[in-house]
Amino acid sequence: MNFEFSYLNRPRIVETLKSTKFDLLIIGGGITGAGIALDAASRGLRTALVEKNDFAFGTSSRSTKLVHGGLRYLKQLEFGLVREVGSERAVVHRLAPHLVIPEKMLLPLYEKRGFGSTLTSFGLMLYDWLAGVRKEDRRKMLTRRQTLRQEPLLREADVKGGAIYAEYRTDDSRLTIEIVKSAFKQGAWPCSYAEVTAFNYVDGQVKGATVADHVTGSTFNIEATAVVNAAGPWVDELREKDKSKHGKRLHLTKGVHIVVSRDRFPVQQAVYFNVDDGRMIFAIPRGATTYIGTTDTNYDGSKETVTASIADVNYLLNAVNATFRPGDLKLEDVVSSWAGLRPLIHEEGKSASELSRKDEIFESQSGLISIAGGKLTGYRKMAERVVDLVCEKFFNERDIASSRTNELLLDEPGFANYREVAKYIGSVSRELRTIGGDQHVASYLVHTYGHATTGIIHDLRNNFKNADNASIISAELDYSLHNEMTLSPADFLIRRTGMMFFDIERLKMSVDLVMETFSQRLNWSRDKIKHERAVISDSIKFASHFQK
Ligand code: FAD
Repeated sequence: MNFEFSYLNRPRIVETLKSTKFDLLIIGGGITGAGIALDAASRGLRTALVEKNDFAFGTSSRSTKLVHGGLRYLKQLEFGLVREVGSERAVVHRLAPHLVIPEKMLLPLYEKRGFGSTLTSFGLMLYDWLAGVRKEDRRKMLTRRQTLRQEPLLREADVKGGAIYAEYRTDDSRLTIEIVKSAFKQGAWPCSYAEVTAFNYVDGQVKGATVADHVTGSTFNIEATAVVNAAGPWVDELREKDKSKHGKRLHLTKGVHIVVSRDRFPVQQAVYFNVDDGRMIFAIPRGATTYIGTTDTNYDGSKETVTASIADVNYLLNAVNATFRPGDLKLEDVVSSWAGLRPLIHEEGKSASELSRKDEIFESQSGLISIAGGKLTGYRKMAERVVDLVCEKFFNERDIASSRTNELLLDEPGFANYREVAKYIGSVSRELRTIGGDQHVASYLVHTYGHATTGIIHDLRNNFKNADNASIISAELDYSLHNEMTLSPADFLIRRTGMMFFDIERLKMSVDLVMETFSQRLNWSRDKIKHERAVISDSIKFASHFQK
């Protein structure tokens, strides 16, 4: 595209959606839909994507934020899944090294919990082999003393050893928005706050959809040869609209994460530990916080507002207190939380934790293609499979290239590896120091915006001449409004920056400024400002007050 992915250009995107006959319409702007849009547009298909809320509003902003092979799926003998997502980790890291960052995971071994050390050593060896992990990154088994040195907070009593293995951490909603931005650059037309309310048919075949525009309040139609339903937990609702919800169906399970300050739970490194009920939980340091998760329970409540209950939070606190010293984390220590829904495929007689995480594609008589299940990590391969199917079903005669998303960097000009990212953080940090900023801010900006940090710093130097919080927020917001289709304070504070979860104090300090900027730029009425403020205070409430 030769114009920016700016809030100012949304009307132009809507006009194009109304007036173009698309090859492919994708419903859902989570990582699955975003990945499909990037794959399709980069192969030359005229591609539209609509999302009823903000991009990554659904599960794709509420995961454990790991690009991982899913060690526990070995236990379920899902070798194919482990091989695919395991090897995808290195590919996604190469595409965005500032955002998908190598992280060594510590797996403590116990006398009475989990597997013994021989079985764990073999499992991790298999995991490395399936994922094609480089020699220097392969698992290392640790003695009891080495394990306790690696993570001094572990309760010593029954630790008998440990293992260190390679994973990657990420920011799921940033990864999703970067993929949406790349899809736009490749010629796709993504539009948020645009909800499919009905399918449109020609001779019984889905050939488009009716869309409610939640920004303008209007309704419009999109015409397309093929339609893909990538609506995550809402996939079955759309299959119902298409009257094609037969056979397999979704099974939603809820996963909760809690965030505590790093001071209260100062783990030295990421730990993946066993719980008494046989499940496994992550404790992951991030900035000034540590987050802990996840739960896995059946869910049939509202999909729009999914929150943590006191029982969820206590389950996670008990797990941490049983494993780490001093073991006194309390409800009051939880500064934030999030809850997401896994859109899994139902299997009769299986419990939430036993259900497969594999993705599945459903094809309906009407031609609607739906995709559900899967992992954040596997988005690229899922997208490739869906677009291959679309090409096979709808574009037989056309000469469509095969997928090339493994070479499309998600940041430009791109970093060769994490060492280059660290070097860039160093140079940003030196520049920031001249206007009062520090290494911490440099690291945050680069991990969030990649090379776009150069433009943000330029804005800071020229327009604000200062690196205090208000100036940084203004420069970030400026960038995000003009390049990331950020349409509301919640989009910015929750999904573009992660402040709601990982820096709630900064969020509270920034909320007035963010509100003011939006209301001026978007010319908001008093009622609209009131509404947007309520959205933010409800979000804070949901993240930090737990229901019985
Ligand atoms: P979503 O992200 O939910 O996207 C679907 C989108 O469709 C939503 O944004 C929704 O608003 C939109 N939509 C719905 N209806 C309509 C409509 N009518 N019109 C327009 N838009 C519509 N995977 C990993 O690889 N690593 C992890 O660490 C990890 N941890 C996880 C932890 C938890 C607790 C959970 C729940 C999942 C985790 N996963 C993880 C799995 C991963 O997060 C999901 O597989 C992935 O995010 C699903 O993405 P999606 O795009 O299919 O769904």
